[in-house]
Amino acid sequence: MALDVAWAQTWVRRTAEVIAEHREELIELDRQIGDGDHGENMNRGFTAVVGKLDALDEAPAHVADVLKLVATTLMSTVGGAAGPLYGTAYLRAAKVTGLEELDAPAVVAMIEAGLEGIVARGKATTGEKTMVDAWTPAGSAAQEAASGGASPAEVLAAAATAAEEGAVATIPMVATKGRASYLGERSAGHQDPGATSTALILRAAADTAAA
Ligand code: ADP
Ligand code: MG
Ligand code: MG
Repeated sequence: MALDVAWAQTWVRRTAEVIAEHREELIELDRQIGDGDHGENMNRGFTAVVGKLDALDEAPAHVADVLKLVATTLMSTVGGAAGPLYGTAYLRAAKVTGLEELDAPAVVAMIEAGLEGIVARGKATTGEKTMVDAWTPAGSAAQEAASGGASPAEVLAAAATAAEEGAVATIPMVATKGRASYLGERSAGHQDPGATSTALILRAAADTAAA
């Protein structure tokens, strides 16, 4: 489908479903190297987002309106580290998605803006075992796909695959940011929960676009 406001709403609803399906897995990952609440935090946040979408008097007009609603809702309901990080990502993404229908460069800009928001907020760089390790390869893969002439849906698919690989690549890393860093060397051998939820979010975007 075209990457318009209908796509954005379906993406968000699909994200809520996928996060709910993976709630236990995200909790278990966070139990290994954090405090075990990531699945619950994300599920609470995206359930609230769907509730807000359902309660709107007027349907959102633009992709950016949907992303802004996600941002404010996640900031106020998710808590923990992930709430402000994802909130900032969606807010920054909303700022660069002014088109009625996102083209391939706009998809790249959206992903890059999300990454910049997370980095601005959390000050992590790659290799620190955080969601940045999923977002960074996603941005690079998106850029590469777009310059190779890929469609917007193909750009999203490339980003999602890179994010999934990035999440798996956090397994051997030693965490130096966030709660997992308290474990030091003992954080190695576990996949980062935030990188995992990032991959789910981007795969939901790609699957929605491919439908
Ligand atoms: P909390 O750690 O407060 O319980 P969550 O469990 O919801 O919050 O989220 C943890 C995730 O947040 C981590 O798996 C990691 O991906 C991400 N994270 C934590 N700190 C940072 C940071 N400074 N920069 C980027 N991501 C971070
Ligand atoms: Mg946690
Ligand atoms: Mg917590």
